[in-house]
Amino acid sequence: MKALELRGVEKSFKKRRGEVVRALDSVSLTVGKGEVVGILGPNGSGKSTLVRVISTLVLPDKGEVEVFGVDATRHPKQVQRSMNRVSVEASFFKKLSAMENLLYGAKLYGVTSAEARPRIKEILDNIGFAQKRATEPMEHLSRGMQQKIALARALLTSPVLMLLDEPTTGLDPRSKKDVQAFIRRIREAHDSSILLCTHDMGEAEELCDRVGIMMDGKILALEESEELKRRYATNGRVPTMEETFMAATGYSVEEASAEGD
Ligand code: ADP
Ligand code: MG
Repeated sequence: MKALELRGVEKSFKKRRGEVVRALDSVSLTVGKGEVVGILGPNGSGKSTLVRVISTLVLPDKGEVEVFGVDATRHPKQVQRSMNRVSVEASFFKKLSAMENLLYGAKLYGVTSAEARPRIKEILDNIGFAQKRATEPMEHLSRGMQQKIALARALLTSPVLMLLDEPTTGLDPRSKKDVQAFIRRIREAHDSSILLCTHDMGEAEELCDRVGIMMDGKILALEESEELKRRYATNGRVPTMEETFMAATGYSVEEASAEGD
């Protein structure tokens, strides 16, 4: 059984002026147990919609989503409990501290404060988050620190499937490295299955077992990153991930991260 399986998933949105956007166009993919799969795509390619459909926030128009063999449309509650979504716009109670937010998150998953406290301490130590800052309001923390707390919250509930939507976008290089190291540790220590959406080529290549390229709602290719690059080889030279991405999507690295659509 796979951690995640999507078969022919479609989702369209009506935009202003009646224009229709196919955010997901026949998307099929799997994430094996303990596997990290990266989805690399420019802004507007459908990554967040993909994550929202899997996490049951958005209903697909067509197709199936199964999380550990359970149909997400028919059993949303059960599916929600077996995964955690961490997105750029991580939702926190900004006035509450990191500790309070983590305890609250644990409670939602039925973990008591008594159980959660020692684990929170351990996790915070692990990610180099100073304990004394854990009692400050979240709004006083940097984006990098907030993002670490979002990941810590996901970890606390021993997630089986983690959906990471651009976990390092907007972070300074230092925090980015920390968060990436943290993701690497999560997979080693917890054997979590991870779907990581990003427009950062290096991140996808370094952290993921397989990488898919997404463009206009379609997954163009999804395979081990060396294979993916070899697919775009010319004259026997294997391109870099950036070159592969450009060849596949027609986008440059700068265009891929450009805001707005
Ligand atoms: P990404 O996360 O890769 O930047 P998104 O999934 O956010 O891409 O968006 C894919 C496309 O779907 C974009 O054209 C976006 O404008 C559109 N879209 C996403 N969510 C909505 C929505 N709720 N209503 C209308 N259009 C949407
Ligand atoms: Mg997005």
